[in-house]
Amino acid sequence: MGVGKVRRSEVGVRVLLVEDDKAIADSLAIGLGREGFQVEAVGTAREALKAPSADLVLLDLGLPDGHGFEVCRRLRAGSSVPIIILTARDDEVDRVTGLELGADDYVVKPFSFRELVARIRAVSRRTGSQQPGQVTQQIGPLEIDRRRHRVTVRGEEIALTPKEYDLLSVLANDPGAMVTRREILAQVWDPHWYGTSKTVDVHIASLRRKLGDPAWIETSRGVGFRLAVAE
Ligand code: CA
Repeated sequence: MGVGKVRRSEVGVRVLLVEDDKAIADSLAIGLGREGFQVEAVGTAREALKAPSADLVLLDLGLPDGHGFEVCRRLRAGSSVPIIILTARDDEVDRVTGLELGADDYVVKPFSFRELVARIRAVSRRTGSQQPGQVTQQIGPLEIDRRRHRVTVRGEEIALTPKEYDLLSVLANDPGAMVTRREILAQVWDPHWYGTSKTVDVHIASLRRKLGDPAWIETSRGVGFRLAVAE
């Protein structure tokens, strides 16, 4: 039974579940509870924005009092909490818009419970755990604090979404080296990600914008990207 298999790392992980379909919400809350997550379930956009801070947000797009995108945008404006969108349609516009607004991943309904838990674990792994022993990396005026997931340029802190941080982190693993789209998708998203590679471009564009100079990231058409090393 599930109860015996609770993973230590998930005990006490607070999940905010925003879903107005009571049947889905109840079964997810029970299932996630069995996996050791601490679930707070709400059914409206208003409640979602008032809820206490969580470690991860599962966000349905169709809510009775507003669109999930608006909730996503407003949550993201004030926090870097990982957000997984639950969408009813396998619609590319929904996916790209969600990712542009700062969501970390999405699942298309109907999804299996196991699939959802796998996504939650993947997102938590990428965004959460501290890696002791890793230090601050300096690349010209860019500084990446790998322990605290903080990025500064000329001493100014830049607010990155978890995905943007992961993307920068992958490019910075070997500054100046070309990283292919495939490698980026596998490392920053999921080995099982079958989304459009437009997702990568969207995140590269926002990362460039935040770094303040498009020259930070060079594009090699059809191949991939590299972090420019300042001379
Ligand atoms: Ca709904």
